[in-house]
Amino acid sequence: VHAVDSLARGEPFSRDDASSRLRAELARLTFDMANVEESLSARMPRRFDAARERLDIACPARTSTEVAGIIKASFCTSGANIDSRIPEWEQLLERAGRHLAAALRSERFQQRAIKDSLTGLFNKSYFSEKLPLLCAAARADGSMLSLIMVDIDKFKAVNDTYGHVTGDIILKGVASILASSARQGDIAYRFGGEEMGFILPGTDVRSALAMANRVRKKIAAEHTGEKGEVVRVTISLGVSEYTPDITEPGQLLSRADEALYHSKHNGRNQATAWGSKAMLAAAKAENKQVDATSAQSH
Ligand code: GH3
Ligand code: MG
Ligand code: MG
Repeated sequence: VHAVDSLARGEPFSRDDASSRLRAELARLTFDMANVEESLSARMPRRFDAARERLDIACPARTSTEVAGIIKASFCTSGANIDSRIPEWEQLLERAGRHLAAALRSERFQQRAIKDSLTGLFNKSYFSEKLPLLCAAARADGSMLSLIMVDIDKFKAVNDTYGHVTGDIILKGVASILASSARQGDIAYRFGGEEMGFILPGTDVRSALAMANRVRKKIAAEHTGEKGEVVRVTISLGVSEYTPDITEPGQLLSRADEALYHSKHNGRNQATAWGSKAMLAAAKAENKQVDATSAQSH
């Protein structure tokens, strides 16, 4: 109740307060509707527990357009003149409910704008907004920055064999492994379709490649399925690192793409660092140019 109480006193609160603290508070105070004794005169459902000298009051947390949830608060009634205090307590809950609903709504909108709805990863527009900023930061302070591009192998065949519903489940499973592999500061994103990846600030290509292979092995070892069937998928990855010769963020992306292309053509279920010896050799064999000045050997 203290969180609700502090809101009702009009103290400023951060979005974090509203989301995590109050959400936890609400979860603890889950209201059991079966126990509600709603008297006809009561504005809000309430229940008096005489033995514990406690009055529970429930109040919808609402904005003018929606109900976001229900707040239940327990008021200690020992020594209190209950009847005279109920209007005050109800008012307190009503105000807290308005604050909470508004905070939850604004968080939901913000999350919706930057997160992909199927996988919960950051979406392409967030990726596109962040990448130039992080490239600029890497250029300015000489810090490291790497990019990993992930593409599920033969995913069309998975859909064709098991259907799109199972395809979506697998896509979500892959995404959740990506999300759980991200450390603080990493951005796990869905670029679109079955293409995902990571932006890794402060990470060089060697560490990024190691991470790519860790994630790859984890996914290859998983089998996700519905109705008991075992469906294994693998992923291919391309890794690139920000270097000073990169003049615009799109280059970092196209290098990761080229490396991914190499992984695909070299047999899939593998990760390639842009400019690696294997990639250079394959490009040479295909008579393609890979910018030799910034190519590195791994
Ligand atoms: P490759 O190994 O070359 O990547 O083969 P692929 O079949 O994965 O490649 P392709 O790009 O031809 O096909 C990608 C498929 O991914 C096409 C589409 O059916 C599937 N896909 C893309 N987005 C989604 C999605 O949101 N849900 C599901 N179930 N499938 C999707
Ligand atoms: Mg693809
Ligand atoms: Mg694919």
